[in-house]
Amino acid sequence: MRLSQLFTKTSKTIPADETSKNARLLIQAGFVHKEMAGVYAYLPLGLRVVENIKRIIRQEMNALGSQEIIMTSLQRKELWEKTGRWDDASVDVWFKSQLKNGTTVGFGWSHEEPITDMIRNYVNSYRDLPISVYQFQTKLRNEVRAKSGIMRGREFVMKDLYGYSRNAEELQDFYDSVSSAYLKIFKKVGIGDSTYLTFASGGAFTQFSHEFQTVTDSGEDTIYIDLDKKIAVNQEVLNDDVLKQLGLARDKLKEVKAAEVGNIFNFGSAKAEQLGVNFTDEDGNEKPLFLSSYGIGVTRLMGVVVELFSDERGLVWPKSIAPAQVIIDRLGESAGTIKAADDLYDKLLKHGVETLYDDRDVRPGEKFADADLMGIPLRIVVSEKTVSAGHFEVKKRTSTEVIMQSLDDILKDLAVTE
Ligand code: ATP
Ligand code: MG
Repeated sequence: MRLSQLFTKTSKTIPADETSKNARLLIQAGFVHKEMAGVYAYLPLGLRVVENIKRIIRQEMNALGSQEIIMTSLQRKELWEKTGRWDDASVDVWFKSQLKNGTTVGFGWSHEEPITDMIRNYVNSYRDLPISVYQFQTKLRNEVRAKSGIMRGREFVMKDLYGYSRNAEELQDFYDSVSSAYLKIFKKVGIGDSTYLTFASGGAFTQFSHEFQTVTDSGEDTIYIDLDKKIAVNQEVLNDDVLKQLGLARDKLKEVKAAEVGNIFNFGSAKAEQLGVNFTDEDGNEKPLFLSSYGIGVTRLMGVVVELFSDERGLVWPKSIAPAQVIIDRLGESAGTIKAADDLYDKLLKHGVETLYDDRDVRPGEKFADADLMGIPLRIVVSEKTVSAGHFEVKKRTSTEVIMQSLDDILKDLAVTE
């Protein structure tokens, strides 16, 4: 994409009403637009990051054999009443409204109830199981505090997956494989080293649920990590009994702030019992389905990446989710320089390299500052000097070293996946 055509602009002005680093940088770099507190729109570069994260997640969910769907945002009150989750006393983030005919509806903050109710139409016998479905959806939650930028939205993108199993053992197998898939996802996104499987409070069926917590001061949770075992315990469940049960020693745990990027939950047969969703087992008996549910906060994840990697010059994207791999900074307007930069742009695109091309007639300092602010992994300068040298000036976003490279070298380096 040519920056001369990109409708968004970067801004030097720090948004006055924004206290979180992630939103501040994303707004300044033109990745998101703040509509109101906790409500953000995703602009072309921001959307590319979201889509890249979704691509990584989708790959792993499909590998589990899960099938992608999109459920509705408008939800039926009766369904949630059956499971005791309609009341504001039990779920305090509901947005609710009325249809013209007076029917009360809720806006989807999660989807266990409608998905389980939908599944009843397709599952009759044990032969139809196990199955799982997932979606990327904009969830709506009436959060009290929305001070963490895109890490806590009143409207945000979640990937939620729902697994239906015949019994507790089958559920556990699936639970473990989704858990491994989650660790792969966080590694691919670039936060693997600072993300921990964390024991958190469970529900009626299990003592614990599991969270995936990424260590960052911008996080709202406190967790205790065993660095050798690479697991953590959420403060909310930390006590001597739990430590003993998990084989952890209090003096070996490190207390840190963390952000919950994912949460997996075993509902057992509770939901299906409440909703009356059954299957017929091998012996012809009616049994309730076993449900497990798995969330990843897609846009929160994006915010966490910003918090972890950005520096005083701006955003820093891991290659796997960057809005582009390369930014070409063309310095100078001579016919030779323009031709060399245009050629490079065409060739990179032809090789399938996502590229931003700063073809604007602005000062070099401004181009460099913008390339840094946007956080593009590789900057290539094309100028009169590089044209006469027959090489390009290449710099990584994470380094200060400028090296001279041919196009072949650049393409070779780009092909190496880190
Ligand atoms: P939290 O404890 O942070 O309020 P939660 O436990 O209510 O989150 P879940 O219902 O488990 O969240 O949702 C699945 C995932 O969605 C979470 O792990 C988190 O990554 C993300 N998420 C939850 N709430 C928000 C929000 N308000 N804004 C952005 N992402 C969110
Ligand atoms: Mg949670």
